[in-house]
Amino acid sequence: MSRIAFVNGRYVPHGSAAVHVEDRGYQFADGVYEVCEVRAGRMIDERRHMQRLVRSLDELRIRLPMPLSALGVVLRETIRRNRVTDGIVYLQVTRGVARRDHVFPAPSTPPSVVVTARTGDRAKGDRQAEEGVAVITLPDNRWERVDIKTVGLLPNVLAKETARAAGAREAWFVDADGYVTEGGSTNAWIVTAEGVIRTRPAAFGILRGITRTVVLEVAAELGFRVEESAFTVDEALAAQEAFITAASTIVMPVVRIDGLPIGLGCPGPVARALRARFHHHAEVAE
Ligand code: PLP
Repeated sequence: MSRIAFVNGRYVPHGSAAVHVEDRGYQFADGVYEVCEVRAGRMIDERRHMQRLVRSLDELRIRLPMPLSALGVVLRETIRRNRVTDGIVYLQVTRGVARRDHVFPAPSTPPSVVVTARTGDRAKGDRQAEEGVAVITLPDNRWERVDIKTVGLLPNVLAKETARAAGAREAWFVDADGYVTEGGSTNAWIVTAEGVIRTRPAAFGILRGITRTVVLEVAAELGFRVEESAFTVDEALAAQEAFITAASTIVMPVVRIDGLPIGLGCPGPVARALRARFHHHAEVAE
């Protein structure tokens, strides 16, 4: 089946879907994006993803290209046209097309909007969660505003490629004080020897993951002790469990960090429980 992308008001074949060479997303990474899980044909946590999109756009002073209700229609139509039952939908908004100049273009410049959707292998994700994944650690060399979900992901790209070359699934960034910030495309968590779930506060140094927000709720419901406090790589190595979260992976157990086993070197009960309960808490869009 041929894939379809939404590009600036039109549904076009994916193979020929394109933006202008002077799109500011292409030239300056001057844009933001969102990725929503699609499960049984429905978007998961659409409301929160759209809230974060609006925040990202506001922070960069890019206007919302269309009302959220219209954007919702486009997201659903893109999912439908691509017949995605389980997978993801991707939305990107940039400051639009203008003659190349660093300063903002005229306020009348329409933002560019791209939406794509693709099928994922849910069973494969579940199998991977049974085995767990490896991560490596790297110095965090990103800008300070990682709370904005911009398409400027070059440090993340390089870190994840380094992880892949090392046989790992994810790279955890480590700040100048030795604390883990987050993964290249995920939030980072540990479960301490005392059974406390820890993840870095979202105030600074990380993207406030939507999955992270929901997992905090799930953890509270399950009666786990949770602390939003940063942890070091040594604390992670001494943990019973570690895991990563993102819309595309939900809760994924981490069983090795920098080649060293975490806990028993296999997925632990806390990560399993959070993964199993996740979709009871996430919002399912109509
Ligand atoms: N941190 C980074 C850097 C990310 O790129 C992502 C997802 O893309 C996340 C965290 C997780 O966010 P979410 O749970 O909203 O997918």
